[in-house]
Amino acid sequence: MRCPFCGTLDTKVLDSRLVSESAQVRRRRSCIQCHERFTTFEVAELQMPKLIKSDGSREAFDEDKLRNGILKAIEKRPVSSEAVETAIASIKEKMQATGERELPSRWTGEAVMVELQGLDQVAYVRFASVYRSFKDISEFRDEIDRLESTKTEDTILKEDK
Ligand SMILES: [Zn+2]
Repeated sequence: MRCPFCGTLDTKVLDSRLVSESAQVRRRRSCIQCHERFTTFEVAELQMPKLIKSDGSREAFDEDKLRNGILKAIEKRPVSSEAVETAIASIKEKMQATGERELPSRWTGEAVMVELQGLDQVAYVRFASVYRSFKDISEFRDEIDRLESTKTEDTILKEDK
C-alpha cells in the first residue's frame, strides 16, 4: 500500500478491525518513510455480471428492478418480505457463481421464475405471463398445464419415498 503522503511503498499496518457489521475492515497504517498515518477500508468487491439485452446492448444489474418485478408478482400473495430478500440474495449468488462478466438479460428472468415457482404458484404464473408475454390464452393454458403436470410429478416422487 503506497503512502499517500510521500509515495513510498513501505507502510505498515498498526491495527485492523471490522466495521459496518463486519462488512468492512478498517486498517490504521503508518508510513515507514515519513511516519504519517492513514486509514484504509477494505470491502469485498461484489461485481455483478452485466446484462445483455435482446437488442445486444449492455445494462448494469439493477437490484431494485429485480425486486420490483418480484414484488409486483407477489402482490396480495402470502409471501413474506424475508422470503423475497432470500430469493433476491439467491439470484445474485447464482449470478456471481456463473463467473461470467456478462449474462443474457433473460437469465435473471428465468432465475426469478425458478424462485417464484418455489414460493407461490400464482406469483409464478403472473410473472411468467408478463415475462414470457404469452401471445394468447392457449399459450397461457399450456403453461398452466405444464405447471400442473410438474406438480403431479412432484407428488408422485414424494409418494415414492
Ligand atoms: Zn510516507
